[in-house]
Amino acid sequence: MSKIQSINPWNGKVIKEFAPLSPGEIETKLELSESTFQSWKRIPVSERASLIKRAGEILRKNKEEYARLITLEMGKIIRESRAEVEKCAWACDYYAEHAEEFLSPERIKLPDGKKAKIIHQPLGAILAVMPWNFPFWQVFRFAAPTLTAGNVGILKHASNVPQCALAIESIFREAGFPEGVFQSFLIDSKATLSLLEDDRVKAVSLTGSEKAGAAVSGSAGKNIKKSLLELGGSDPFIVLADADIPLAAETAVKARMVNFGQSCIAAKRFIIEESVYEEFLKLFTENIIQLKSGDPMEESSDYACMARPDLASELYEQIEKSVELGAKIHLGGQKPIKGSAEFIPTILSDIPEGSPAYSEELFGPVATFFKVKNATEAIRIANATEFGLAASIWTSDLKKGETLAGEIESGAVFLNAMVASQPALPFGGIKKSGFGRELGRQGILEFVNAKTVYLG
Ligand code: NDP
Repeated sequence: MSKIQSINPWNGKVIKEFAPLSPGEIETKLELSESTFQSWKRIPVSERASLIKRAGEILRKNKEEYARLITLEMGKIIRESRAEVEKCAWACDYYAEHAEEFLSPERIKLPDGKKAKIIHQPLGAILAVMPWNFPFWQVFRFAAPTLTAGNVGILKHASNVPQCALAIESIFREAGFPEGVFQSFLIDSKATLSLLEDDRVKAVSLTGSEKAGAAVSGSAGKNIKKSLLELGGSDPFIVLADADIPLAAETAVKARMVNFGQSCIAAKRFIIEESVYEEFLKLFTENIIQLKSGDPMEESSDYACMARPDLASELYEQIEKSVELGAKIHLGGQKPIKGSAEFIPTILSDIPEGSPAYSEELFGPVATFFKVKNATEAIRIANATEFGLAASIWTSDLKKGETLAGEIESGAVFLNAMVASQPALPFGGIKKSGFGRELGRQGILEFVNAKTVYLG
């Protein structure tokens, strides 16, 4: 099996290499996972909550160290890496404060006067197959609720962020979690699918591409195991004529450029009412060209590079094909240098139906523009995608905004704000964006047995 490499995408240098776990090592870790679960599940929620709180404190204490590791392995700018670590600590605090309330029994009074209750019990070892784009946040979003509910976690992290995977494991250890409650498995995709064949693994949560989601949930389904999928998105950002256009344009650039565009909930399709289209496009362009590129470790850089060179070339191919089919380049559009992860922010307009820019997810700094006659056409285009993760609608008429929010096919709609996750808000999609919810109360109840106890 080939080595798992940690490569700095900004300069292409190999930082470290790791041998993947052998079958024997996987077995030992699975045994530990299983035996730890038997004791961990009996620990009171309040004690588990104290430990997750402690994990949050460690994240804050070592913020700089973790932020530098994130930037080193996947190239996001250091300011964003720090914010990511802080957000993880926020999720830890949130579940430390609310887990007991969320997991408390629900009492049911039956029509015949008898009583029952629903208790929430952990399932066992939950596999987390996680991506590189937010290498800490995606894991903590899974781990904070799942471990606090009494499960144990097995992390199969993306192959390009092995150091982040190991650092996260050490945070739980330092926080005082019993050994085996959270383990990082440095393994490839094949070994990951084998884990789902093992009875000791009870369910899986995956964040990543449709392809990975289909493979992993297919295998989970075959083994009658629950899966939660958080896949791609092609989120619309709708601007109606009555919106605050300068504010919308400024926010739109942030929403597209966050994490250098490599976010499932980044705004990707800008659907603008025709009377304000030119003004919006002009302001958007002005805002985007002001951003400064440079070394991701530099405080002054606004963006740096994509997480891997292959991701940059795949994104360019989507642009190239769309242009061949008639899309117009308004900004950028240059081919990345072979082997480099750098990418020029790009704006496309006049996107023809059937082109990749119309229907596929553009996972990088490429904004697509659509001019529409009215709100009805905006909703039609917004829903003309296989994805259904989230959407942002801009209008000064909040009542109209709420009505339109009901028409959007997605897991979330934000009015006059960019889409952003936070611990209290359930997060997830419909259609090809996946199923299940992370965060909020829903998030902690995904991996528990809601057991009915009839009390008579
Ligand atoms: P992948 O979806 O391939 O990777 C995500 C995770 O799934 C990684 O841990 C990966 O492991 C694992 N994985 C992939 N294929 C399998 C499989 N067959 N069986 C088991 N595990 C698997 O993302 P990529 O890095 O290839 O990125 C490609 C595209 O995915 C992006 O351009 C974007 O569209 C989408 N994506 C979406 C994300 C989101 O937040 N929804 C996040 C990241 C990517 P390994 O790294 O070892 O292959």
